[in-house]
Amino acid sequence: MAYQNFIGGAWVDAKSGATDKVLNPATGEGLAEVASSDKADVEAAVAAAGGAFDAWSQLPPRNRSEMLAKVADAIEADLPTINTLEIDNVGKPESIIEFEMDLAVDNWRFFAAGARFLEGRAAGEYMEGHTSFLRRDPLGVVASIAPWNYPLGMATWKLGPALAAGNTVVLKPSELTPLTALRLAEITADILPPGVLNVVTGQGETAGASLVTHPQVAMVSLTGDVGTGKAIARAAADTLTRVHLELGGKAPVIVFDDADLDAVIATLAEASYYNSGQDCTAPCRVLAGPKVHDRFVAGLTEAVRGIKTGDPHDPDVAMGPVISGDQLARVGGFVDRAREAGAEVTIGGKTIDGAGFYYEPSVVVGAAQDSEIIQREVFGPVVTVQQFSDDDQALAWANDIDYGLSASVWTKDAGRAMKMSALLKFGTVWVNDHIPIVSEMPHGGFKQSGYGKDMSIYAIEAYTELKHVMVKW
Ligand code: NAD
Repeated sequence: MAYQNFIGGAWVDAKSGATDKVLNPATGEGLAEVASSDKADVEAAVAAAGGAFDAWSQLPPRNRSEMLAKVADAIEADLPTINTLEIDNVGKPESIIEFEMDLAVDNWRFFAAGARFLEGRAAGEYMEGHTSFLRRDPLGVVASIAPWNYPLGMATWKLGPALAAGNTVVLKPSELTPLTALRLAEITADILPPGVLNVVTGQGETAGASLVTHPQVAMVSLTGDVGTGKAIARAAADTLTRVHLELGGKAPVIVFDDADLDAVIATLAEASYYNSGQDCTAPCRVLAGPKVHDRFVAGLTEAVRGIKTGDPHDPDVAMGPVISGDQLARVGGFVDRAREAGAEVTIGGKTIDGAGFYYEPSVVVGAAQDSEIIQREVFGPVVTVQQFSDDDQALAWANDIDYGLSASVWTKDAGRAMKMSALLKFGTVWVNDHIPIVSEMPHGGFKQSGYGKDMSIYAIEAYTELKHVMVKW
């Protein structure tokens, strides 16, 4: 199957005629060919988005809201196709796809409503003889650059608030997983005016980099790796283009001695291996209290033994492949080096033989706090477990990391939970749970996990410029 770019409401090949091959990670075989775009294609897409901006931004919020609600309906109606594309392109098991897509549809509905609820301080006479009021103006053309782990979900987090606020968008999906972004363009082509949503496929270093440095792009929104975030922030510095960065994570899971151990184990056996652990908020770094550590390790190891891996289309399979051969090698490398350094692998720790990019769901115990498997994002089905001695050490270890996306605290002591939520330097802290998210609440990082929020009204605000208008009487 061959796919083109979607620019100004029309399907077009890359001007160079170049294409990229897209693989099915469950088989390692080719799934599709997509346009391999470069600067010339980006020029055309930004011009189309720029041309559509005035009319789109000047629509009353109600009209934009109605169209975004129709986008939600269109996605919902198209789920059989979208789910299949996502299963085949990302290797997501059929058994988990519904949850993810339900959230994406709800996100669109939330952003449709949010288009009508921008907030600001009351207008008034803050200086005698002058009335002041605030506007939240859209920025212009937004470049949205998405990762491969939740292709439609992450595109939704970027497009929803940008469009709701009145911006037009050029979306560049990941070169590994562009198919649902293209499908979204197809099913919304008769809902959104031409040029409001453009999709350009291609590599980060060509299509992505051309977008970031395009002078007509008012804001770049990236979800991706920390290194990519830094490269984009540097490239955008020349033009002082706004940058919104949702980057990696390395979520600590602090299990105190009074925690409900069964609940932690049940949650992690699912959430840590969900999407093969390729989740920026995955509960991947357990810090367990001295009285529960051994029982926790035994319980989690046993629970992980029950995770069925294999063909994503088998309804009983809970975990599919990782995204690529490179990712498989990267995950295996982390575990091998941790083992060589003295950590114990209580379960998993190997590539699964055969076609596709499969790695066993794994538990690694006793790695040192300063080791790479604790400090760096593995982004695979691997959970580490360390034993802490007291609350202070748990907190210090949890915060001793470059990332700051999410964390969880497991305890029956409400005071301890409150104290930990105040002192943990992460954008989301769960107490006695890990991973649920809702459209109304913000998601985003502290520290090198980036800046700017996704979801919630704060995301819509991030895609606006605050303007003060002062009128002399
Ligand atoms: P990646 O950084 O390799 O790629 C992300 C996107 O950036 C892709 O579309 C890629 O083509 C593009 N890109 C790469 N180099 C570029 C450049 N120089 N200029 C412009 N664009 C460029 O990330 P990935 O491997 O696709 O995704 C996994 C990463 O995403 C993980 O680190 C994960 O934690 C992170 N992530 C974060 C969140 C969050 O909400 N914080 C959510 C999902 C994934």
